[in-house]
Amino acid sequence: MPHMSAARVASLYVHVPFCAQKCAYCAFYSEPSSGDLINRYVAALIRELEMVADDLAPKTIFFGGGTPSLLNLRQWEQILRAMERLHLLGAEEVTVECNPATVSPDKAKLLRDFGVNRISMGVQSLDETLLERLGRIHSREQVFKSFDILRKAGFDNLNLDLMFAIPGQTLEIWRATLAEALALGSEHLSSYEVIYEDDTPLFAQLQAGAFDVDEDLACAMYEELVARATAAGFRQYEVANFARGPKPKQSTVQSPQSAPCCEPTVDCGLATTDIPAFACKHNVSYWRGGSFYGLGPSATSFVRGVRTKNWSNTQLYCEQLEKGNRAVESREELPPLKRAGETAAFGLRMVAGWPFEEFKRTTDFDLRHEWAAEMGQLTARGWAARDENHFQLTSQGLRFADAAAELFLR
Ligand code: SF4
Repeated sequence: MPHMSAARVASLYVHVPFCAQKCAYCAFYSEPSSGDLINRYVAALIRELEMVADDLAPKTIFFGGGTPSLLNLRQWEQILRAMERLHLLGAEEVTVECNPATVSPDKAKLLRDFGVNRISMGVQSLDETLLERLGRIHSREQVFKSFDILRKAGFDNLNLDLMFAIPGQTLEIWRATLAEALALGSEHLSSYEVIYEDDTPLFAQLQAGAFDVDEDLACAMYEELVARATAAGFRQYEVANFARGPKPKQSTVQSPQSAPCCEPTVDCGLATTDIPAFACKHNVSYWRGGSFYGLGPSATSFVRGVRTKNWSNTQLYCEQLEKGNRAVESREELPPLKRAGETAAFGLRMVAGWPFEEFKRTTDFDLRHEWAAEMGQLTARGWAARDENHFQLTSQGLRFADAAAELFLR
């Protein structure tokens, strides 16, 4: 049972584990959709929501996947009505991930009517050959069409997901995709380099020598991304994330005296203006070490220092919930220093880095004491900058954020 004396958890993630077909690069937990299993999943998810609702007061909700937009109107309505009954609607930010092939005016309207106010669209590329190579089910035309449908349904906070360093993608193709995507005028842009995960077709092709990885080209593409997104009015606030919003009044490192000044709508506790208004609040809370419930197969929760993970098996997940159990596969009580190290690492992915006091408030540890050597090492390498109040990665360091962040793990 939740500790009712503690503040309720403000972030909710829901994993929808179905995809029309598996993309060539994807190692997320998802499986081909089948009508019956989806119905069973919806009923199980509602049970899981009922079990945690009393401990939740969501400010941000994120439906990710898998392909949440694969659920039909009736299934969506069941979930959203249950959330309404459990007083879980009305969050400041409610995001649903959509595949451009599965957006319809009716679905967009239903989501909007129930308070979904942000859509994240998995575009990946606007080049037909690359879309096919990635195993995406949508065409480039469907991206433009779906964008239009979402705008007409009243969504004024849209994210586009793009991918770069795809095998066969030249700098010219990447530029063309970027130009077309930026011309759509979304409020948010996420862009990740392709990664080769074990057990994916793309990894097997790499192993078989079907193509080479070109690190220099990947770097050039990343630089192009940052330059073009910035020129189009976005601000980078995380390694792979860009959003629109007012310009910062002061930047963090150059103006150490700056007063705490979060964007009024961002409840991130950050002592900096470096979070654009259209940043994904759900992810900002996550990168800042906030607690969250993760529901659905394979989802992770982190609540009051305890990390749990649900079974990555939809059948098993449903069976457990049908018996009235939460479908938890593992539970780990994180030692405070280990958790603080992870929080440090996550927060460093943000352009704003870590204000020392903020980190202390979040974790009870002081970066200046516990991680002084690592900070010195990164600063000497030109990957990071620090002043008396903040530590943050430089643009060079952001390119290697994973390697930099790893130093902070304990
Ligand atoms: S749609 Fe997303 S979750 Fe599904 S297989 Fe493709 S990348 Fe993975």
